[in-house]
Amino acid sequence: MSIPSTQTVAWIENPGQSGKLIIRSDASIQEPSENEVLVKLQHSGICHSDCHNVYGQGKYTEIPGHEGVGEVVKLGPGAKEELMGKRVGIKWLYSSCKECSGCKKGNINNCAKQSNTGRTTLGTLQQYVVAHGDFVTLIPDGVKSEVAAPLLCAGLSLAGGVSKLQPEVQPGDYVVIVGAGGGLGHIGVQIATIKGYKVIAIDGGAEKEKLAKEMGAAAFIDFTKQDVVQAVKDLTDGEGAHGVICVAGSERAYEQATELVRNNGVFVCVGLPPSTYMFPMSPIHIANRGLVIRGSSTGTAEQMDELLQLAKEGKITPKIEVFDFEESPKIIQELNKYEVTGRKVVRAPA
Ligand SMILES: [Zn+2]
Ligand SMILES: [Zn+2]
Repeated sequence: MSIPSTQTVAWIENPGQSGKLIIRSDASIQEPSENEVLVKLQHSGICHSDCHNVYGQGKYTEIPGHEGVGEVVKLGPGAKEELMGKRVGIKWLYSSCKECSGCKKGNINNCAKQSNTGRTTLGTLQQYVVAHGDFVTLIPDGVKSEVAAPLLCAGLSLAGGVSKLQPEVQPGDYVVIVGAGGGLGHIGVQIATIKGYKVIAIDGGAEKEKLAKEMGAAAFIDFTKQDVVQAVKDLTDGEGAHGVICVAGSERAYEQATELVRNNGVFVCVGLPPSTYMFPMSPIHIANRGLVIRGSSTGTAEQMDELLQLAKEGKITPKIEVFDFEESPKIIQELNKYEVTGRKVVRAPA
């Protein structure tokens, strides 16, 4: 396959409050260096955290995107030869150190020395992206690229998040998912339901209610219309849920979500408000109520493979809409306003 000298990408101009994503067709294509592969992208999901790149909430690269699927077309020195021609997924975790105590236990997603796609290396909103050969995910035959894409961040984040309910929260227990109709949340509803939890989905609007219920939610609470705290109590014998996963990244969601968990319950932080925001709970409450608070950032390689297997079996069915690459800037704007139900995926230019 011949690789052109320039390519089309989505590029951030003036990252910050007036940041803007633009489509450029004059960008260069990177050379894969040691252990890296060059991937010709087919599809890329667009995630709410890509908004952080555009609006300058931290240090990121000019090209966002961390849910890419495509074919390996070139190997850098030392990269595994068997990857050539394979369909692979590119995730938020570009690489980890492989040497720290977390990496040795398989918790590569929490490595303190990790690099990230779109943050430390250019993201997947391009035609060709460079990825680390040891950290790409093989996409099984039978899972379409546009279906695999949102599983690479949205799905994996919730596979990781749901796993953090254990060992305290048992099958049959109540689990609240705050932000259940978005890109991450709706897959989380499906994963938690498969794991045997009774899912109470919280989000706003009829479209998100319909999606959450299709994914298996036992109940839906519309925060725009209902008293969320009371509604959760009414559904859970007055005590609150055994587990709460806060997927929404808004400060308001966190303020309220901490009130939804019962004593001795588990609260999992997944959604990412701006880094200046502090967790809204006093140590007195955490101590007296015996709460367990866990953080979850994406998931492990094993969780990724399990999720793709479930997708292949038709048990995980993310709601996707596929758009032309040129729609990327519009999708970022919609995500920033929390207007997207399910996941929007773009088709890389051929
Ligand atoms: Zn993401
Ligand atoms: Zn490490």
